[in-house]
Amino acid sequence: MSSDPDCIFCKIVSGDIPSFRILEDELTIAFMDINPANAGHALVIPRQHAEDLYSIDAECLSAVARSAQRVARAVERTVGPQGLNLVQCNGDAAGQSVYHFHMHVLPRAVGDELKMNWSIRPGDMKAIGELAERIKANVDA
Ligand code: 5GP
Ligand code: ZN
Repeated sequence: MSSDPDCIFCKIVSGDIPSFRILEDELTIAFMDINPANAGHALVIPRQHAEDLYSIDAECLSAVARSAQRVARAVERTVGPQGLNLVQCNGDAAGQSVYHFHMHVLPRAVGDELKMNWSIRPGDMKAIGELAERIKANVDA
């Protein structure tokens, strides 16, 4: 499985950097975004390193889509958002800041004023960790 030693998400896959994991399977992992745009903001990534949509292989892309649906269902049950976006960015101009393919699972509320390229604000780690446990408990097998 390919991995990039300089990639922050590869370090999350290997466990070298801690994360609040909510789902793991053979090809993907999902964890909480530490700078949540809204409560319940999670990321789904392939275990294998691929920079973006152009380079990810089809099997990993399919696996990310399946995991994103499982995470979205769990977030829906846990947080009960009014809406939810899947967001995936490719290239600086599109707002990509981490060059390891990832899908944002992003709960939405009416009037949250969230724009496509939202500004990053650090979250409360205790609150994120507690929410991660609740979402994890709501992930279907
Ligand atoms: P992008 O802007 O590339 O679409 O999204 C990258 C996301 O990764 C951002 O929402 C950012 O908050 C998140 N992120 C960056 N570094 C870390 C980290 O070390 N841990 C976690 N959990 N999320 C991170
Ligand atoms: Zn990587």
